[in-house]
Amino acid sequence: MRSVIWFRNDLRVLDNPALHNACLTSNQVIGVFIITEEQWREHDDAKCKVSFILRAVESLRKSLEKINIPLVVIDAGNFKNSETELLLFCKKNEITNLYFNCEYQINELKRDRKIFENFKKENIGVFHYHDQVIHTPGSLKTKAGGDFSVYSPFKRKWFEELTGDQLKILEVPKRQAELNIDSINITDYQTKYSSSIDDLWPVSEEHAKQMVESFLKTRGDAYKDDRNFPSIDGCSKISPYLNIGVISSKWCLVKAREHNNNQLEEGSKGIVHWVSEILWREFYRHIMYNFPRVSMNKAFQAYTEKLEWSENQEHFDRWVNARTGIPIVDAGIEEMKQTGWMHNRLRMIVAMFLSKNLLIDWRKGEKFFMQHLIDGDLASNNGGWQWSASTGTDAAPYFRIMNPETQSLKFDTQGEYIKKWLPQLKDCPISEIHMPSNPEQYGYVKPIVDLKQSRQAAIDAFGSLKKN
Ligand SMILES: Cc1cc2nc3c(=O)[nH]c(=O)nc-3n(C[C@H](O)[C@H](O)[C@H](O)COP(=O)(O)OP(=O)(O)OC[C@H]3O[C@@H](n4cnc5c(N)ncnc54)[C@H](O)[C@@H]3O)c2cc1C
Repeated sequence: MRSVIWFRNDLRVLDNPALHNACLTSNQVIGVFIITEEQWREHDDAKCKVSFILRAVESLRKSLEKINIPLVVIDAGNFKNSETELLLFCKKNEITNLYFNCEYQINELKRDRKIFENFKKENIGVFHYHDQVIHTPGSLKTKAGGDFSVYSPFKRKWFEELTGDQLKILEVPKRQAELNIDSINITDYQTKYSSSIDDLWPVSEEHAKQMVESFLKTRGDAYKDDRNFPSIDGCSKISPYLNIGVISSKWCLVKAREHNNNQLEEGSKGIVHWVSEILWREFYRHIMYNFPRVSMNKAFQAYTEKLEWSENQEHFDRWVNARTGIPIVDAGIEEMKQTGWMHNRLRMIVAMFLSKNLLIDWRKGEKFFMQHLIDGDLASNNGGWQWSASTGTDAAPYFRIMNPETQSLKFDTQGEYIKKWLPQLKDCPISEIHMPSNPEQYGYVKPIVDLKQSRQAAIDAFGSLKKN
């Protein structure tokens, strides 16, 4: 029997349920990856992220070669054509079954529902699996039978419902007999999207596994504290690999358990905390599935749609160009532009500054992040932005606004992070680095807003909204 595994955000051979099941049932398996440049543009995928995906596809091709599974790349342009192109390919190659792992964004779900219907009409079986989450979205319910919108009870339920089988790693399938199928070469696409950031982010499953192992071994125990300080190498930086599936979250959880005396909920404070961050990622995937409005540019808390956001273009441009005059904020934006990644504490500080102090619509910030992040991910990015803007699930209450200067003093006390990303401030004394009194002398700028006044204006704007 001949089957296709359609790779999407699961660019790996280890612990890949769709691949595993395709190989269990078929003696001839062909891998397919579909290029959809129109969707990448529409989804604001950063150039560095696209390059990362293409490099991961190349690495996947090599891993699949070892088990004689050819990887065919098809350029369909967009989602709509994906289905037609895939069907053509399946018919031409006498494919009987199609396998894939689910994606949870609204358009992807719609596309897959159509594929189920249309492929069935052509007598091609369609089989789907869940690889991005441990519990299938929609399967965890509150006592009242509803969907969770608050993280802590979600996490409790996640552990209550966990069975040993759910954390079983699926091995790399055995080698099949050789099979030759033609594919397009992706070198031209790689050249088109290659970016100066590429060298910072080597891609392969082996590399991702080593990153997790090395993090858990050397930094896992200290993670709970160290993760707050952006100048410390305290977190795993595994997000880009997790988001396109070079590594599975299940594998990360199993490794965390191994490094923590076979426990997930107790033991090393650092590792237990890291596990809870992986569950935040899963929480936001459940949210996106259960409340599709969040992937349609809508606020989770509908009442916040009435807020009159500021249209001040100069403020937005200054934020985008790292010229707000608040060093910690500008340093965060620089880190993202120069590396494709931003430390979590900075993401919160920078997002709160835009959505609260500048009172600019969180959607503008969400889009800008997507355009620059190598780990840009609709569910987590939207979740993080709506949390920061107090419009989302489990969001920060609107009156609890992080003061970027205080955050800077607390988490970048010596100004190391600021100096790294804003070298123009390298001679600024530590006593002034968090808010220089005469920034122009360093070629820097004065703050675009007064932090106290703008904070109060945000509280007033949110406070005037009615919750119904
Ligand atoms: C405004 C804002 C935007 C964000 N945008 C994204 C995004 O586009 N893509 C993305 O992957 N994460 C996003 N996050 C979440 C978080 O900042 C990153 O996942 C984390 O910084 C990645 O670094 P790491 O791999 O070293 O994480 P670690 O601290 O090592 O954590 C391990 C993993 O847990 C998950 N995780 C950690 N924190 C969170 C969180 N708050 N929400 C969801 N998952 C989490 C990630 O998959 C991460 O790789 C955003 C957060 C905020 C506040």
